[in-house]
Amino acid sequence: MTEKPLSGHVALVTGASSGIGKATALACARAGATVVVNHLASDQQADEVVREIEVAGGRAAARAGDVSVEADVQAMMQWIVEHFGTLHVLVNNAGIQRDASFVDMQLKDWQKVIDVNLTGQFLCARAAAREFKRRGIDPKVSRAAGKIVCISSVHQAIPWARHVNYAASKGGVHMLMESLAQELAPERIRVNAVAPGAIRTPINRAAWDTPAAERDLEKLIPYGRIGGTEDVARAVLWLASDASDYVTGTTLVVDGGMMLYPGFRGHG
Ligand code: NAD
Repeated sequence: MTEKPLSGHVALVTGASSGIGKATALACARAGATVVVNHLASDQQADEVVREIEVAGGRAAARAGDVSVEADVQAMMQWIVEHFGTLHVLVNNAGIQRDASFVDMQLKDWQKVIDVNLTGQFLCARAAAREFKRRGIDPKVSRAAGKIVCISSVHQAIPWARHVNYAASKGGVHMLMESLAQELAPERIRVNAVAPGAIRTPINRAAWDTPAAERDLEKLIPYGRIGGTEDVARAVLWLASDASDYVTGTTLVVDGGMMLYPGFRGHG
């Protein structure tokens, strides 16, 4: 990749005030993009992410908006076009968990996870694709008219008891991404996904914040360590840049081998 693979780009990262979104926003800014740091209105940490980017010499702005609310997403896209002219990259990252055993799962927890994790990705991708199509290719910026990177999960493929809402939402993201990639490729809009395994962020704190929990989790990871947010951000950056120009409809799994069925080592 060139030194500043996203120079001239405007990138929107949803849920960018913490975890994978924050690391991705920082990576996109280091790569030369102007970054819109989307966050929930109730979340003040986005300003710190913007400050961190600006201190390092980059360009960024925070923008509140709930990805599951159509009016918020439309207003956010309009604001981006007014302030920065257009959009080149969308990182569909915002996501939540509301875990419960299946028989105890409340409809509101099913609905909320589908609304944020799946409908949120639909709304943001639709708004971005409309802008990419309106503008078309700007060869000074990129060979593509636009790039969408969906943050999925290994649970788009690995069933997950007590998390059926989350696993169903990520399975949905998988087919949303592939179907969109098929539909939008003729417009030179690339759509791909990154499927992280276990990454150390607030969403899964209980899975790593004691030595016993960490040891348990590492048994599922052949590579022997929990992932860092940077591991995911680097993959997103590659998919957002022209280095991956011929890649669309692909899921890049970033999981230290979690999807290799490590339980089968030494058996059979
Ligand atoms: P996180 O909790 O640190 O980040 C999620 C972000 O999304 C937060 O900033 C939160 O405020 C924001 N958010 C939540 N609802 C929102 C909404 N309606 N509108 C806008 N923003 C909203 O957790 P994370 O691990 O960084 O998660 C980021 C993405 O990575 C999620 O889609 C998650 O499913 C996915 N993921 C994480 C892991 C992991 O191990 N951490 C593994 C696989 C996939």
